[in-house]
Amino acid sequence: MIKSVVSNEYQELQKKIAELQEQWKLKLDPEIIRQNLDKAAVEAGVPAAALTAIDFEISLFLQWIDELVALLVKNNPELESKLSGISTLLNEETAILWIEEAFAFNQIYFAAYAAEHGMEEWIPQFLAETALRPYLRLIAEKVQHEINHAVHGAGCPVCGEPVRLAAIVEDGKKVIHCPRCFANWPARRLECAHCGNENHETIYFLEIEGDVTSKIQVCEECNGYIKIIDSRQYITKPPVAFLDLNSIHLDIVAQENGYSSIGKKKTN
Ligand SMILES: [Zn+2]
Ligand SMILES: [Zn+2]
Repeated sequence: MIKSVVSNEYQELQKKIAELQEQWKLKLDPEIIRQNLDKAAVEAGVPAAALTAIDFEISLFLQWIDELVALLVKNNPELESKLSGISTLLNEETAILWIEEAFAFNQIYFAAYAAEHGMEEWIPQFLAETALRPYLRLIAEKVQHEINHAVHGAGCPVCGEPVRLAAIVEDGKKVIHCPRCFANWPARRLECAHCGNENHETIYFLEIEGDVTSKIQVCEECNGYIKIIDSRQYITKPPVAFLDLNSIHLDIVAQENGYSSIGKKKTN
């Protein structure tokens, strides 16, 4: 059994991108974020980021895109011809749209943008999403103390990302982590994060051969899954983004078995 399906080169690149995002976040003034956590909206599962006003400094966002392009090209010079036109294409208006559509996971918008400008499909959404995350992480830091649960099926309570990763911590408790904004919140050990099912007869664990520290919790009620990593194995806890990246093999196994990170309650 190959424990990790992600190449070392890819991991190195992800590490550099994560460092860049951390530097970017540190440049942001926390005062640009004004959250308005309307209780009823939060209880209905509206992500905190959707209830937050952010004073975006668009020139900064554009600069980040340039820095990211430079990093990608340095890492793989073959990308230069594919990425060189981006900075001339991006203006303030487009940047605002990119921020909004990245937040809303609007793949259709980005696919159309790529097609219109003759780019490979992954490029615009990847760039926009990467440069959006420091803002989401800043929001998560600000509201983390108020996040003590999530609404089943609504994804991350801060950014709306589908739930797919949990850690078992020292006291045996389960903590769900969002690799997109780094928010975390507690959950019951035997509980489906997608539909709230707590019936032990319809919640299973898929064990991974040769991997004793992680498993996949699946739910027969909604066909949802979540990866569960026993983080007590680590002396130094790896960043959440790497727990997620290093356990992609679990996502593959779950999806190959017909489970999804967006559970769908069966209607029959
Ligand atoms: Zn999140
Ligand atoms: Zn479920």
